[in-house]
Amino acid sequence: MPQNTRTKIIATIGPSTATREKLEQLIDAGADAFRFNFSHGTHAEHKERYKLVRKISKEKNVRISVLADLQGPKLRVGEFKNGSIVLAKGAKFVLDMKPILGSQERVTLPHPEIFKALKVGDILLLNDGNIRLKVDACDKKHAETTVLVGGPLSSHKGVNLPNIHLPISALTEKDKEDLEFALKLGVDWVCLSFVQKVADVKMAKEIIKGRAWIISKLEKPSAVEELEDIVGESDAIMVARGDLGVECPLPTVPVLQKKIVSVCRKHAKPVIVATQMLESMINAPTPTRAEISDVAAAVYDGADTVMLSAETAAGQYPIEAVSMMHQTIEEVEKDPLFYHFMHSSRIRSEFINSDEADAISCAAGDMTTELRNVAAVVTFTTSGATTLLTARERPDLPILAVTPDEEVANRMGIVWGTRGYVNKGVFKNFNNVESISRKIALETGIAKIGQYIVVTAGFPLLKGGKTNLLHIIKL
Ligand code: PGA
Ligand code: MN
Repeated sequence: MPQNTRTKIIATIGPSTATREKLEQLIDAGADAFRFNFSHGTHAEHKERYKLVRKISKEKNVRISVLADLQGPKLRVGEFKNGSIVLAKGAKFVLDMKPILGSQERVTLPHPEIFKALKVGDILLLNDGNIRLKVDACDKKHAETTVLVGGPLSSHKGVNLPNIHLPISALTEKDKEDLEFALKLGVDWVCLSFVQKVADVKMAKEIIKGRAWIISKLEKPSAVEELEDIVGESDAIMVARGDLGVECPLPTVPVLQKKIVSVCRKHAKPVIVATQMLESMINAPTPTRAEISDVAAAVYDGADTVMLSAETAAGQYPIEAVSMMHQTIEEVEKDPLFYHFMHSSRIRSEFINSDEADAISCAAGDMTTELRNVAAVVTFTTSGATTLLTARERPDLPILAVTPDEEVANRMGIVWGTRGYVNKGVFKNFNNVESISRKIALETGIAKIGQYIVVTAGFPLLKGGKTNLLHIIKL
């Protein structure tokens, strides 16, 4: 059964899945959200896919979150005369600004910011970190390097500069155009790539002005250094293990993943674990044991969402990949130890600079374990904040986000345990918490007569009041 788990699944849409049939199958297999990757595809393609997703979700009466992932300042080398070269260990190689085709001796690197920031001794990583170059000499227009680790290098391959803080914005001109386009379409979330500092998130917020929520992708060591601030400023976080694993030593990635997930939970911000989760399924109908363990580990860690990239965008077995992920989540969530872990890693209000909203959401979490026969937590929310605080508690129950706003309901597709539910009427005339909660619980089928529901809300509701109400109702 799709959409029955607490932990959510994002499937990246690409050539393998851009048809009505495949999109429907992805939803049936367990996808809760779709990512449109603006590093690939034209606006016309994204628009058609977007319309199709909204149409299908309406027909199927399944709520789907849509994410627009902006490419960000991805740095690349220029073109080679023969398409590619092979760099040998110990060889000398030059990167410069000359707009001419590359050779065995040099290639264009059309990014003046890099040359401004480079120093002798710095390390450049090329081609997903497979090639390492050390800078021997440099000025504002070129860098002479020695190859530490060689290998093949072809046109337009990516360049990573770990530990170098580049004076570049997280939004390029292309990103700004893609962003306006995506916002006009009506996407629910925007992903910012290569965030370096909290100021990057603030700048994006100023442009987006609440039209979508922001996911900061953590894939730079400098962002990890400002982790608490970036999590605080963002609406959600992605552990972007692809580039993170290039920029940081690979063995540190699992440790960073655990740390980022726990900081996000402390701040009640949804967190996505992404990249290479079922990588081998790009070409094979079954994954490796290690990949399934990795998905399970992210679920046990308490991640809100796990994500598939090329597996669903360009792979041969996109539906099988979602289905495998979904079955793994189901198994983990059936394990009694799962909630034991969730509850033992709960963050008590006294550790989070508590205010009344924290205290109330912690108490709501307690009620779901202290009281017997509780069916659900019903949260009334205009901004979504009350719901996120409730989801932080990781209750062993479904969470309903009742909101007047279709967009807020859609955003819940990547929030742990939560389903969005739109009801405009009750927000206009909210005169009795008890009767309204009772009515919604019964009409959504989330609880039955005789069961309890736990209700949280922030009054005044339409002014986005801070969470200040906690109520137990027996149906
Ligand atoms: P990407 O981001 O797939 O857009 O590069 C995810 C990652 O780097 O892990
Ligand atoms: Mn990335």
